[in-house]
Amino acid sequence: MNDILPDESGLWAFFEDTIRTWLAAYGYRNLRTPIVEQTDLFVRSIGEVTDIVEKEMYTFVDHLNGENLTLRPEGTASCVRAVIEHNLLYAGPQRLYYSGPMFRHERPQKGRYRQFHQVGVEALGFAGPDIDAELIVMCARLWRLLGISDVRLEISTLGSTESRSVYRARLISYLEKFCDDLDEDARRRLKTNPLRILDSKNPAMREILAGAPRLFDDLDEDSLAHFEALQRILRNQDISFEINNRLVRGLDYYNRTVFEWVTDKLGAQGTICAGGRYDGLIAQIGGKPAPACGFAMGIERILALMGENGAVGAHAIPDIYVVHQGEAAAEFSWKVAESLRDDGLKVVLHSGGGNFKAQMKKADASGARFAAIIGEDEVVAGQISIKPLREAAEQIRVDLAGAAALLGNI
Ligand code: ATP
Ligand code: MG
Repeated sequence: MNDILPDESGLWAFFEDTIRTWLAAYGYRNLRTPIVEQTDLFVRSIGEVTDIVEKEMYTFVDHLNGENLTLRPEGTASCVRAVIEHNLLYAGPQRLYYSGPMFRHERPQKGRYRQFHQVGVEALGFAGPDIDAELIVMCARLWRLLGISDVRLEISTLGSTESRSVYRARLISYLEKFCDDLDEDARRRLKTNPLRILDSKNPAMREILAGAPRLFDDLDEDSLAHFEALQRILRNQDISFEINNRLVRGLDYYNRTVFEWVTDKLGAQGTICAGGRYDGLIAQIGGKPAPACGFAMGIERILALMGENGAVGAHAIPDIYVVHQGEAAAEFSWKVAESLRDDGLKVVLHSGGGNFKAQMKKADASGARFAAIIGEDEVVAGQISIKPLREAAEQIRVDLAGAAALLGNI
């Protein structure tokens, strides 16, 4: 779990500002849910036999009432819970997003943290492939806005629940032939959740899986048509993609479209954004059946990728640093600072005493463009002396009123 220090938070702020405008441009509205939910919600939605539920959740008993609670490991379950609880779909389909910390007890490494941050976008109540395409097209725009170019799109389809169960049986009978070579995870999952095995990162498993039957060959007609329509829109929008038949997401609720945005620049943790359709989840959690589609992106990984490209956040650099000497000047400097702030300037008022020379050093180190110097003369005249710190220009003396406008012209 990381502290995000002031030197880094400039980039976070840039990212957050960018996504707010970006989401508004597509008509997505913010939904904020609690960070803690009842454990059962995640077990039911993400799936009992998944990495997250089996070994990554921060789960605890609330000793005050015996409730079993979990720090959210992802955002979709909470979003769907809230949509059902507040009957939001009654008003029609919803375009929503959330942003905030998620918690997974994974092995910490570069690009993988136990508290990390996601922005998630969910379109609920929409059945057509056009909305899958909208989600992908909006991601492509975001990469442009953030200056990210070294990222590729992988898409696939998981078909319907029915076609998946046909495939499941075929996969089990294939894997059973390698029973002795399967690793512990795979052997355990063979009967409970064999599709999860496809997601294995173990090279020995990957070798076995290379010859496995493909889910693709069991697809139902409707899913295939949906997938083809999605590809058509993507092509029309000039979005390049690869079809990756091996794409199975780490959560059980997906069906039909799944996609990932992947980069080679971040080593093993290369997926910066992932999502897909989850048409069964709303009903499964107790709502009136409604289709849905969404994705989540890992903010740390996106910022790391931006960092690779040399992006640094703009820090809150003051416009002007006010130095002052003597009691009357200290008093007047308050008035000066507040008046400049009234005019919209970012102002740091020196604190901690010291002579003018020492204070000017602080002014310089602050990065401010100007120093405002207040001594006895200035107090008497009701004026301020302004010294440009970044350019070779003369120090000038100006009236307080209108000083801000003048600074804009220097
Ligand atoms: P991965 O395959 O990398 O484990 P995932 O499939 O578990 O990812 P999702 O649950 O789909 O991830 O979450 C969406 C995105 O959130 C990921 O693509 C990734 O960018 C980010 N993410 C997931 N887990 C972490 C983590 N522990 N630390 C940082 N970012 C993460
Ligand atoms: Mg994971």
